[in-house]
Amino acid sequence: MNDSEQDVDSEAAADAFGVLADDTRIDILLSLPQSDGIPFADLQRASGIEDSGRFNYHLDKLVGLFVHKSDAGYRLTSIGARAVDLLLDARFGPDSPPPIDRETDTPCPACSSPLRVRYEDGDMRLICTDCGAIVQYGYFPPRGRMVRDEDETLDAYSRQVWREVTLAHRGLCPHCGGVLETAVDTDPEWGVDYAATGDCQQCSTVYSSPLGARLLADPDVVSFLADHGEAIDERRFWEFDFYFDGDAVTAVSEAPPRYRLTVSEGEERLEVTLDGDGNVVGTARRRPR
Ligand SMILES: [Zn+2]
Ligand SMILES: [Zn+2]
Repeated sequence: MNDSEQDVDSEAAADAFGVLADDTRIDILLSLPQSDGIPFADLQRASGIEDSGRFNYHLDKLVGLFVHKSDAGYRLTSIGARAVDLLLDARFGPDSPPPIDRETDTPCPACSSPLRVRYEDGDMRLICTDCGAIVQYGYFPPRGRMVRDEDETLDAYSRQVWREVTLAHRGLCPHCGGVLETAVDTDPEWGVDYAATGDCQQCSTVYSSPLGARLLADPDVVSFLADHGEAIDERRFWEFDFYFDGDAVTAVSEAPPRYRLTVSEGEERLEVTLDGDGNVVGTARRRPR
């Protein structure tokens, strides 16, 4: 057993994953469908294994945790499907996803130099090469990169982040589905003045974003932007002024903690108030008189 709170029996896990340490079984896994079952003979043909005895022996090892067997045939279990994801994402094949390294028009929140966006082997990062700040990072599957050009990849990644922020905003860990508890951090170490930092109570993922990121998921902000012709998931999140603009955050109350951010579109402004958990607790539209 390990010492973490995750409640994993390391020995049982090692036995289970040991089942995958065989190239024939990997070939079988990669030939299995996720939904409808596939009959024995069809699966054998798809796997390209001619010896029925050998095929049967290896398939049998996978049945249980990774493969579900029924009258309809064989299919991946949900864990089997995740194992296949891992195999495809880790890319044991000959091609690596093409890297991306390009300057953005967005100033670094710490030093105002233009941020760069970089992608390599699944990792997407928004970084400042002047002061070294890493202001956003995340995972984007290499499979998704292989089928898109640079612009399409950045758009797709931005939409993925928008979805993750929306889940995190509702207390749902985007990584594991566990419970995310979020609080405003008034002195984060990574370049912004105010961050909303969530700790997953189940998988220990820490999900930290600028306080402005919390606005991406708020219905009042979304409709305010829509009224000005902006669809929130059709622009890259780092292009919205409010996302990184630490100067625009003011602490308006200490007890209870309240923070204010302003979204501006033309002459109109939306003042957004957030509480100490990073939740939007009020909005107000202001027009110049
Ligand atoms: Zn910088
Ligand atoms: Zn989690």
